[in-house]
Amino acid sequence: MKMCAQDIEFTLIRSERKTADIVIERSGDVIVRAPTGVDDETVLQAVSDRALWVHRSLAEWEELNSSRRHRPLVQGQGFAYLGRSYRLKFVADADVPLRLKNGRWELSEAFVRKEGEPAARKAFRDFYIEKGLQVFPERVQSLGPLVGVEPGEVAVKELGYYWASCGVGGALNFHWKTLMAPQSVIDYIVVHELCHLRYRDHSDAFWNEVDKVLPRYKERKEWLRVNGAALDI
Ligand SMILES: [Zn+2]
Repeated sequence: MKMCAQDIEFTLIRSERKTADIVIERSGDVIVRAPTGVDDETVLQAVSDRALWVHRSLAEWEELNSSRRHRPLVQGQGFAYLGRSYRLKFVADADVPLRLKNGRWELSEAFVRKEGEPAARKAFRDFYIEKGLQVFPERVQSLGPLVGVEPGEVAVKELGYYWASCGVGGALNFHWKTLMAPQSVIDYIVVHELCHLRYRDHSDAFWNEVDKVLPRYKERKEWLRVNGAALDI
C-alpha cells in the first residue's frame, strides 16, 4: 500500500513480524515493513518520527546514484572485474568480440562497427556471466558447508536492483554486475544468500548467522552500499 508522511512517499508492507523498519531500496523506493496488527496512524507517526533520517538517506542515495551512467566505450576507459579496473583497448584483428588479455580489455573494433554499441555492452555482460558461472558455483560450494545448507542450482543473470536472490529448492541467482566487485564482497553476497536458505528475512538471527561465517561482513556490506551504483558498464 502506497502512503505518504512528511513528504515521504513509501510502500507499506504488513507481515507477521514483531517490529517495524524503514529501508531505502536500491531503486530509491522507501519501504516500510510493519507487523500486521499495527494501524495506519501508528505507521504514519513512526515514519514522521524518522523523517529526518529518511530525507538524509534519500539525499545520500541521490548522490551515490548520480554517477550512475554508462561509461563511454572509448580507448583507455576502465571497466572493473573482481575489484580491479582494466583499461579498454580496441583491437582490429580479434576472433572474439571481447576478451581480457594481458591486463587489458580487448574489444574488437570490427565487431563494434558492425553490431553497434549495445552489442558491445552485451559482450561485457556475457563476459561477466560466463566468468560468474565459474566463480559462483565454486564459492557456493566452499561457503555452503560453513552455513550448513545445501544450495541448489546457481545462475548468473540480470536481476535489476537485486544483487542476488534465492528460489525454491535452494536455487541461487546472482547479478552479473557483482563480478565487478572485489572477491571479498562477492563472498559476502554468497554468504548473505546462503544464510537466506536458513532465514528468509533480515532478522537478528539472520545477521548472526552471516556474522558467524564472515565476522567482518559489515565492511563488505558497506562497500556494496557505497560502491554498488558504480558497478555498471
Ligand atoms: Zn537479504
